[in-house]
Amino acid sequence: MEKILITGGAGFIGSHTVVELTKAGYSPVIVDDFSNSNQSAIRGIESIIKQSVKVYEGDCNDAQFMNDLFVAEQNITGVIHFAAYKAVGESVEKPLQYYQNNVGSLMVLLDVMKKNGVENVVFSSSCTVYGEPDQLPVTEKSPIKPAESPYGNTKQVCEEILEDVIKSDADYKAIALRYFNPIGAHPSSHIGELPLGVPNNLIPFVTQTAAGHREQLTIFGDEYDTPDGTCVRDYIHVVDLAKAHVKALQHFKNQNTPYYDVFNIGTGKGNSVLEVVKTFEKVSEQKLKYKIGDKRTGDVEQVFGDVEKANNELHWKAALTLEDALRDAWNWQKKLK
Ligand code: UDP
Repeated sequence: MEKILITGGAGFIGSHTVVELTKAGYSPVIVDDFSNSNQSAIRGIESIIKQSVKVYEGDCNDAQFMNDLFVAEQNITGVIHFAAYKAVGESVEKPLQYYQNNVGSLMVLLDVMKKNGVENVVFSSSCTVYGEPDQLPVTEKSPIKPAESPYGNTKQVCEEILEDVIKSDADYKAIALRYFNPIGAHPSSHIGELPLGVPNNLIPFVTQTAAGHREQLTIFGDEYDTPDGTCVRDYIHVVDLAKAHVKALQHFKNQNTPYYDVFNIGTGKGNSVLEVVKTFEKVSEQKLKYKIGDKRTGDVEQVFGDVEKANNELHWKAALTLEDALRDAWNWQKKLK
């Protein structure tokens, strides 16, 4: 069984990926500092896969710790690098922390991989690199726009680091997956999103409002140039997203070093905030309290991805619907409360 290191493996996307990797016959090893994740995610993973999972608690920026981990584990064949800070607003207030953590950890990782002869790395990137797109859907060839936040910039810089390192050094294979908006939870309700404090993201805010933890949802603007005036995003079920990582690892098998490529990972379809609210009301069989508020600074009007490349080359395609994702997110929220 191939051993894969999952940094940030206790997080939202990481935990679902650990489950899908196990199902696909890989042996995942988690490293997480639990700064924005919880041990309960490990128990949730173990309930689904019905076996224990190996976890190292520590900081991916700590080169000594990471090197010791690679040495102790011996035969790691690939890494999926999720570990990163992800709050856009916080990144504006604490840019240094974001650059240090998000960019620093990738540099440490690439160095430690090299020292230990590990070639394969999948990196968590984001559709945020496209900014406000000129044309929809965005393809991997769409222009990269100046980042709106230090968080967004860390994703751009990390992609550039990967590209430069792979150009200079024949010993790596790397894939950056540009995620659109990951939502949902595992259908078993054993794992899901665990936002700290008041959620910034739409879906946890919706489910917490429905559960009575928040007074009401504020929809950020309804005068955008979209069919119903609210912003449009490409919402992808986290289980589909997790499976894309398995496909990326399998894709490395057919590539020679050096190899670097980027793939959009979304559904290819856009949904407005109001459509999300209506669909949530349908699957949860209840009305959601919401009001229309001001636009949120930095929000893109519309973005959804062209996912042909992932479809053709990774043989991956999203299979679950917005309804599936919202139902799973709601079941998860009901279990939490
Ligand atoms: N949104 C909203 N109210 C909220 C949170 C988000 O109307 O409380 C909207 C936001 O303006 C965007 C969409 O929901 O159009 C998705 O926002 P999220 O923060 O989840 O992801 P983003 O696309 O900004 O990364």
